[in-house]
Amino acid sequence: MKNIKKIIALSVISVTMSCGKTSEEKQNNTTKVTEKEPLNIIFMVGDGMGIPQVSSAFYFGEHTPNFKQFESIGLSRTSSTSHLITDSAAGATAFSTGEKTYKRAIGVSSDTIALPTILEQLKERGYQTGLISLTSITHATPAAYYAHVEDRDMHEEIAKQLVDAEVDFFAGGGKKYFRNREDGLHLYDSLKAKNYKLDTLELSKPDTARRNAYLLAEEGLPSKTEGRGDFLAEAAINGFNYFEANKKPFFMMIEGSYIDWGGHAKDDEMMIQEVLDFDKTIGVVLDFVKKHPNTLLVVTADHETGGVSIGKAYDESGKEIPQQVQVYFNTDQHSTELVPVFAKGQGEELFRGIYENNEIYHKLMQAINEN
Ligand code: MG
Ligand code: ZN
Repeated sequence: MKNIKKIIALSVISVTMSCGKTSEEKQNNTTKVTEKEPLNIIFMVGDGMGIPQVSSAFYFGEHTPNFKQFESIGLSRTSSTSHLITDSAAGATAFSTGEKTYKRAIGVSSDTIALPTILEQLKERGYQTGLISLTSITHATPAAYYAHVEDRDMHEEIAKQLVDAEVDFFAGGGKKYFRNREDGLHLYDSLKAKNYKLDTLELSKPDTARRNAYLLAEEGLPSKTEGRGDFLAEAAINGFNYFEANKKPFFMMIEGSYIDWGGHAKDDEMMIQEVLDFDKTIGVVLDFVKKHPNTLLVVTADHETGGVSIGKAYDESGKEIPQQVQVYFNTDQHSTELVPVFAKGQGEELFRGIYENNEIYHKLMQAINEN
């Protein structure tokens, strides 16, 4: 709404000011209104990050969480078409295509028809594209942005489709699906043929004249508790540097993948450290948004994992420790709790309220079109 008001206000000014001016001057006024740069979109997925996981940053972190910087907050209902409790594949496909689908589906509808994704659509409009994940880059969440397959486990096919998708900047794991394949194809060569700088050793400085691929683990990267370091935040910064150098709008998806894995493992330390790492990355991204107001950041989750609650902590004699809390897992599976949606930047108001997960795609598109 803010944008519409702004455009109306500007038109009124240009009408008032145009009295007595030449037609050339009038035209200049019109151009100023319509020449706004396209909106950058940064979409962050905390896999398995429900409200309890977000809360953990407020009780177990050492700093004020960056989550606190958001003022536009909503809730999303995550169910898939086949199961009330979704998986990451159907969840990410809802975000990436605007359609809910069945569990395990990657970029296809409930009748397995390929659906265009936001990444593909924005690429066609001249956007640069980026994907960052801690898992294999062929894993469900990132895959739903560029691949169209019936089942999330089709990693080799998904890797092939990633090469064809020509994503400008991607970082994650999954070497084995590119170089150690049943069909004998060596996709490192295919990436190089597509003008990629491929780094399989470290998160080196991106080559701004080429596409950049970072495959830094056979499958997933280490978890935070296993010593991953600052990969997520650093990959985001590298991505921003790359996109900025090329001076075109961009769409980037950043996944904090292992919040979910902490829940499956019922490992409270792993879950908390992954949430804190994700929150730290949010801080880096928010700094970018502040410096580049023509950007919309949305942070959400595909589902909650672990049925987590944060409850009383007790000492060995069973007495409550008043100034301490602890994480409880109700399950080692996903749950169907509503998950939070945080938005910052141009169009953030659209994300207030309670809605279905697939509406997030439509809200992003609305923000882009109304900008
Ligand atoms: Mg995931
Ligand atoms: Zn999971």
